[in-house]
Amino acid sequence: MSPGRKKPISILDSPAPAAAQSLFGLTNQQLVGTLREFSEPAYRAKQLSEALYRQWDEDLAEISTLPKSLREAMTGGGYQVGLPKIVETFRSVDGTERYLIAGNDGQTVETVWMPDGDGGEAGDGSDAETDLRRATICVSSQIGCAVNCQFCLTAKLGIQRNLTAGEIAGQVAAVLKRHSVRIGQDRINLVFMGMGEPFLNYDEFMAAARLLVEEVGIPESRMTVSTSGIVTGIQRFAGEKVRPKLAISLNAPNDVIREQIMPITRKWDIAEIIQAVRQVPLRPKEKITFEYVLLGGLNDRPGDADEVSRLLRRANLPLKVNLIVWNPGPGLPYRMSDPEQVAEFQERLRENGIPAFIRRPRGRDIYAACGQLKRTTEIKPAS
Ligand code: SAH
Ligand code: SF4
Repeated sequence: MSPGRKKPISILDSPAPAAAQSLFGLTNQQLVGTLREFSEPAYRAKQLSEALYRQWDEDLAEISTLPKSLREAMTGGGYQVGLPKIVETFRSVDGTERYLIAGNDGQTVETVWMPDGDGGEAGDGSDAETDLRRATICVSSQIGCAVNCQFCLTAKLGIQRNLTAGEIAGQVAAVLKRHSVRIGQDRINLVFMGMGEPFLNYDEFMAAARLLVEEVGIPESRMTVSTSGIVTGIQRFAGEKVRPKLAISLNAPNDVIREQIMPITRKWDIAEIIQAVRQVPLRPKEKITFEYVLLGGLNDRPGDADEVSRLLRRANLPLKVNLIVWNPGPGLPYRMSDPEQVAEFQERLRENGIPAFIRRPRGRDIYAACGQLKRTTEIKPAS
């Protein structure tokens, strides 16, 4: 060996610490397998899953239903709970909260809590009787997004990485814990409409949805996933037994306009998207939602409303339209539609027999509204 060169380090000299293995995100069956490594019977998996998905325990040491020796052995074996942590909170004047939530590698994603307006805000104690709270949680499926819609701030990040099922379901658990939500009593809706395109992270997204239904206990009928129109994803979704409701980001009356604002249209056009949606077997009373972001002067004219109506009538599906007033963001070259224009667009759809609703913008002041999620930290977090 030449002088000055260090002796090669044997791996036995300094064993690399085993990468911590997160339990949060594992299915019951996977937990059974993990516990088998510790010669533990299957019923322990039920206790562990209760602690992870119902109690939202953050540390193995907290799980008192498991013997101390097992908790220590699991920790020694490199296991940890791995519940994602809220590292920053931004609070809006309208009660909406936007969180930065960190996974195990420290990268953050955005999640939004939107209390629905009737949870006792009257301040007269009238909610005490029913004691029911309602809220919607908006969940991210990727860090950034590859789809590159021209009106969306998340697109500016590009795609950083996919989230795991544990990181997707973990956002929900972290927020439920923060608000001490009572599963089975409080009315919680989930919308997979945060950062990212869920159908470009299909397996992890669906695994998270199943965990949220089966382990966390949120009914599938209270979950909606929104896609920009990834046809291969919609086709797979059509075959799922347990699945959220489906929303399609239509955003244009025809392919020409859609291509300008959603380049993904070149891969799958509107007709192909609708064809795929038609294959999804709907539950009784279920409707497909078509989202339509109104961009001033671009897709918000009365003629556009008529064209959307014709398109959707031809689709002949149980459906409704959610109109979203575009939320501005730095560097995005669009303008908001005038309120009269928005009202007229809705009216026109309704006259044409298409149920249409205007989505109330939430948390705009903290960049929590649709399409504004971009890990914006330049505004001051709430304490
Ligand atoms: N990637 C999925 C889900 C996340 S986006 C999708 O595109 O469907 C959720 C919704 O926000 C979509 O309907 C999208 O069209 C809309 N959106 C994106 N940017 C927006 C903005 N700046 N203002 C209003 N809505 C926006
Ligand atoms: Fe991605 Fe949806 Fe934004 Fe399009 S609108 S860039 S698909 S997050």
